[in-house]
Amino acid sequence: MKTLKSALFHLVFPGGVVIAVAVALWQWLPHALFPVSTVVSFFSFVAVATAGVCWRYSRSRLFLVLLVLALSAVLDLKQSTMGPPVYLFWQQLIPLNLMWLALLRERQFCSLATAGRICLLLVQPLLLYGILVYKLSWYTALNTWSWSIVLAGWTVEMTLPVLLVCLVFLVVLVRYFWRNNGENAALVWVLIVCCLALYGSDLVPDLYWYALGPLLILVMVLEQAYALAFRDELTGLPSRRALSDQLFRRRRRYGVALVDIDHFKKVNDTHGHDVGDQVLKLVSTQLAMVGGGGRAYRYGGEEFIVLFRHDRKEVTTQAVEQLRQRIAKTPFTVRQRPRPTKRPRYVVPAGKGQQTLHVTVSIGLSWWEKGLDGDAVIKRADQALYRAKKAGRNRVIST
Ligand code: GH3
Ligand code: MG
Ligand code: MG
Repeated sequence: MKTLKSALFHLVFPGGVVIAVAVALWQWLPHALFPVSTVVSFFSFVAVATAGVCWRYSRSRLFLVLLVLALSAVLDLKQSTMGPPVYLFWQQLIPLNLMWLALLRERQFCSLATAGRICLLLVQPLLLYGILVYKLSWYTALNTWSWSIVLAGWTVEMTLPVLLVCLVFLVVLVRYFWRNNGENAALVWVLIVCCLALYGSDLVPDLYWYALGPLLILVMVLEQAYALAFRDELTGLPSRRALSDQLFRRRRRYGVALVDIDHFKKVNDTHGHDVGDQVLKLVSTQLAMVGGGGRAYRYGGEEFIVLFRHDRKEVTTQAVEQLRQRIAKTPFTVRQRPRPTKRPRYVVPAGKGQQTLHVTVSIGLSWWEKGLDGDAVIKRADQALYRAKKAGRNRVIST
């Protein structure tokens, strides 16, 4: 489970922002600007683009969510000519379908499993049509079944569909907080827009909400693709590619600190690769808090770069010195499997299944100078780092 802070952030951004902007546009711009034909064209255009992106990134679950939205929009548009209230009943099924999709495992886009899932979705409106033609009374009975709950002096009228929606929200949110990724965030947002269509249709036409769905999915997939390209998966820090991007843009006046964990191979050899990974994450947490206006990047392996967007030497030297001291002082508690290897010299036993490690880092520091490009500045920092290692490690040396 990723941190609660990042999970909450991804719930608000970008999905929440897209919905807030859409509601604001609807509130403040004349409604005549959004005729049904325009909304339908927008929906179709974005849905086709999103379907293409889902296919390219092999996101079959999100493609199925898109299909739910497309079915909802078509049934909404056709409800006046359809006879039985298929759309009304289908609306009650949307949360259930989204919960089903939230719990499904991702499968290959072109596979029998995905084809079966598509059929399962397409068959529902047809079944509903058949049932409603013969048994309309079922729908009425289910919808009118309700009871009152008194909550802190408030009486809430609870119907079966509302109860169902609450349950689905709970499941989808738990799933999201358990596995905080763009896809599950997209599902939460699509569920929100579908519920707004279900219960807030007095404010905004349903079709308008459905039209937001594909846009939300598209934004989330692109956001995920961005994270894959520019974030390091293990540590969550910006990746080497992000650093090159920054260095390419920043042609002058910057400082570079190359940070390397001391004797990291020994940590791996003694405690195993998993513990090594945990140490990398814990050191990254410290690096992310570096002061002096620096930003940490994972450069590769157990090497990190802190990029300062200025060349004030005292400020950068002080910031990296503080970073080094903080890392050296911080005990890193790591979870370990009960398979001990060699007894390490520098390990203090902690709670059951946990160990406290102390690691140190060596840092080479260099600054931009006229005639030096990004690679040359990093090379200088690397030479300084080499000297720091030679001098006994756990120190900062600048060029
Ligand atoms: P020095 O003090 O001279 O830097 O010694 P060192 O052992 O840290 O240096 P070396 O470069 O020899 O070893 C780096 C090790 O980092 C080797 C590699 O197995 C390990 N490593 C690189 N990337 C990862 C990773 O993502 N996870 C883990 N667990 N280990 C990694
Ligand atoms: Mg190294
Ligand atoms: Mg090292």
